Amino acid sequence: MQNFNILIVGAGVAGLTCANLLKKQGAQFKLIEKESFDNFNGSGYMLGLLPLGGRVLTELDLDKEYFDHSMEMANYEIHKENGTLNKAYSLDFINKEYGSYRGIGRKELIDILTKNIGVENIQFGTSVTQIQQTENTVHVNYSNGKKEIFDLVIVADGIHSDTRKLLWNENEYKYYDTGWGGWVAWLENQDLNVYKEYWGASSFMGLYPVKNKIGIFLGGPNDAVKKQGLKSFAEKIKDEILPEFDVLHKSLDRLASTENPFYWEFHDCRTNDWNKGNVILLGDSACGFLPTAGVGASMAMDSASAFVDELSRTDKEHIEYGIKLYIKRQKKRVETAQEDSRKLAKLMFVKSGLIAGVRDYAFRFYSIKQLAKNISKTIEG
Ligand SMILES: Cc1cc2nc3c(=O)[nH]c(=O)nc-3n(C[C@H](O)[C@H](O)[C@H](O)COP(=O)(O)OP(=O)(O)OC[C@H]3O[C@@H](n4cnc5c(N)ncnc54)[C@H](O)[C@@H]3O)c2cc1C
Repeated sequence: MQNFNILIVGAGVAGLTCANLLKKQGAQFKLIEKESFDNFNGSGYMLGLLPLGGRVLTELDLDKEYFDHSMEMANYEIHKENGTLNKAYSLDFINKEYGSYRGIGRKELIDILTKNIGVENIQFGTSVTQIQQTENTVHVNYSNGKKEIFDLVIVADGIHSDTRKLLWNENEYKYYDTGWGGWVAWLENQDLNVYKEYWGASSFMGLYPVKNKIGIFLGGPNDAVKKQGLKSFAEKIKDEILPEFDVLHKSLDRLASTENPFYWEFHDCRTNDWNKGNVILLGDSACGFLPTAGVGASMAMDSASAFVDELSRTDKEHIEYGIKLYIKRQKKRVETAQEDSRKLAKLMFVKSGLIAGVRDYAFRFYSIKQLAKNISKTIEG
């Protein structure tokens, strides 16, 4: 790969993981990022990284930094909307059988992945405006008016990929919309090693710890929630929560007092073909995940690793063949995980109180064995 000339578009989880892996192989690449240096990698949100993603950091000798900036998750609990526990699962089977399942802030993960590359080697404030291909070469025009030629372009600019629009028609990728969405905020200086979710009727809340703080998620059906606004929606949920669940009350107060919190629409996206010649989609631009799936970043890292592995056995004249082998190896497992995450979302996002009651009752019989089977399927592929 040493003589490949590669462009990576997007310095997010997939793009930076790929850049690190290419660097390890001694390959040359250019990495561009749409955001300016000042706006790059803001406070971000929380990520649960399965060993599927975490082990790529071991491959990159970044495991120490990763462990120092994250924490192991021991349990997963599903609660009713009033705060009472409905079902608890130990996550020991993941930590013991596959490797540590860890909570980390996206900001901290991006910092770790950027360290080896060096921010000075990322070209900020740049995007691609045009792509043309001739046999084995990709001609790229940038937003700054400059042009360059590459052997391979890796498009890793996320779920709303603008670069994808340059080569893929709108009917070649499809968004799947749950019709729900929510806000994210941080509750600082808190320690918790349990993922806590609160599945209500027309409401969803999650507490996702990372080191020293907790990521809070509060959402519901877009139309109703947006109409009410964060403050009054948070108040309404607070009224339903029993007084003894202090951390929940604190979390909702924190969320309600957050200035201009970002509203995430809960949708994902799937692209039919992951490549057009020597242009390949990687991470969420190929197959994006619902935020609640808790697997998109792990998959993006695993895909980057599988891709660079296939590329390492490819010569310059046969890059598209390497790409095809990678897609054959990875696409089905990623899409299967996406399908599973959609099924879970259907259970989480329920509007009617009656159906939510039936769901809550039925979930008491959903065993750790069944949960383990599903998670193992994602991890093992
Ligand atoms: C609230 C929330 C919670 C989540 N929780 C989890 C979780 O617990 N576990 C998990 O595994 N996953 C989680 N995910 C999903 C995970 O964040 C994504 O799947 C993952 O970040 C995808 O990586 P990516 O590199 O494809 O995209 P991103 O990480 O989004 O990176 C895309 C990069 O491209 C840049 N960019 C955008 N447009 C352009 C352009 N035109 N030109 C150049 N650069 C561009 C962006 O600025 C960004 O830096 C969550 C997502 C959200 C929103």
